[in-house]
Amino acid sequence: MKNPKVVILGAGYGGMMTTVKFQKMVGTNEVDITLVNKHDYHYQTTWLHENSAGTLHHDQTRIQIKDVVDFNKVNFVQDTVQSIDPKAQKVQLENGELEYDYLVIGLGFETATFGIKGLEENALMISNINNARLIREHIEYNFSRYNNEPGERDDLITIAVGGAGFTGIEFVGELANRVPELCKEYDIPREKVRIITVEAGPTALAGFDEELVEYAMNRLEAKGVEFLIGTPVKEATEDGIIVEKDGQEEEIKTKNFIWAAGVKANSIVQESGFEVNRGKVEVRDDMRAPDYDNVFVVGDCALIMNEETGRPYPPTAQIAMQEAEVIAHNLKELVRDGSELESFEFNNRGTVASLGQRDAIGVVFGDKKLYGWTASVMKKVIDNRYLLKLGGMGLLLKKGKFKFFH
Ligand code: FAD
Ligand code: NAD
Repeated sequence: MKNPKVVILGAGYGGMMTTVKFQKMVGTNEVDITLVNKHDYHYQTTWLHENSAGTLHHDQTRIQIKDVVDFNKVNFVQDTVQSIDPKAQKVQLENGELEYDYLVIGLGFETATFGIKGLEENALMISNINNARLIREHIEYNFSRYNNEPGERDDLITIAVGGAGFTGIEFVGELANRVPELCKEYDIPREKVRIITVEAGPTALAGFDEELVEYAMNRLEAKGVEFLIGTPVKEATEDGIIVEKDGQEEEIKTKNFIWAAGVKANSIVQESGFEVNRGKVEVRDDMRAPDYDNVFVVGDCALIMNEETGRPYPPTAQIAMQEAEVIAHNLKELVRDGSELESFEFNNRGTVASLGQRDAIGVVFGDKKLYGWTASVMKKVIDNRYLLKLGGMGLLLKKGKFKFFH
């Protein structure tokens, strides 16, 4: 009898954790596991704001897949998924095709642009290692031009960030640390540089603890970050952005516009004909797609309703990893013709967001508020815990964050 074929798409938090857990649960000759990913590395999306600002090198953020996945048990295919045909049980890749008995879709997120004019062409987005590296280099190059161009080209040293959600806030927190270094490097007075966060809604970090939001904004303002709240970005151009303030349109001239105002599921899911809610697959309790008993969806491509609030759980690495554990277990049951499928239940361990070096805010253990150095240590502990879970002590020592004091 042939082994069942399990194909896992995407080596993000969801795909990697599913693969690592599942490979430990099954024997070498029991099942054919294939993991497909665009790159031969996994990256921690949760650190990309640091790579983008240039406060952390991207090599610390990425992990070679071969260092974590057991290639005796898993066939790794470096390729780009183009579409899925769930009826025919096939996946179309850029360079081939795969058949499956069981599929896990973990293709992650895309930046949401909401159809805003000029965004695709003129904004940079924090969404993967390549983009993060580009943002870092782009900002640095513009700083290096400042003393070489005639006239006062303040647009070269103005950085505008669209969105004050967690991504936007964490990114400006890093920029506030990076800008003084860039000023020193390129002989630019710090007071000439502007970091402007433009937020459409009535507050930064909507829905988060108000006291901590105020703390974050005060700390960032003290480091020179400007906030334009209640100010949607209407358009991005080659020369800057158009925002709307009190019903009036205004232009902010900048050559550095970073869009961090929301995410959506990888569009391959919807384009492949899965039934979607807000672009995501609203999975059953056991993490399977509603119409297919052999398709699981994990992470930012999956939607799970929080019954208490009547709204979906936000897409986070935390929930993706928890989902992956259930999927690995359920896959093992299915390939062994078992019937003990587990149901997913989110265990909210809290949220911690960094505000740059040695500063952060968070709510953990239910309602315990943290801020400042304590929160920044907690953030590193969370990051390190992930590395330990994924690749054990070896990976933790190689990629972990241990600079608690400087
Ligand atoms: P991803 O981690 O996005 O991985 C998707 C994978 O699929 C990638 O490896 C990608 O290369 C691959 N892929 C995509 N398309 C294709 C294709 N067509 N073919 C082949 N491979 C493909 N969440 C938290 O819980 N805590 C945090 O502190 C936190 N910080 C964040 C900071 C930033 C800057 C950002 C942007 C997000 C943050 N999040 C955080 C959210 C979190 O990163 C995401 O929810 C999480 O990455 C989702 O995991 P995933 O496995 O669904 O997808
Ligand atoms: P988000 O949707 O949480 O925030 C986007 C922000 O952009 C919102 O405040 C929104 O009002 C604003 N916005 C939308 N359109 C705008 C416009 N036209 N002009 C100006 N502002 C506009 O998105 P995110 O911050 O990218 O986060 C994505 C997911 O990742 C969330 O689930 C978040 O919880 C998670 N995340 C978590 C952490 C953490 O836990 N530390 C860090 C980063 C991201």
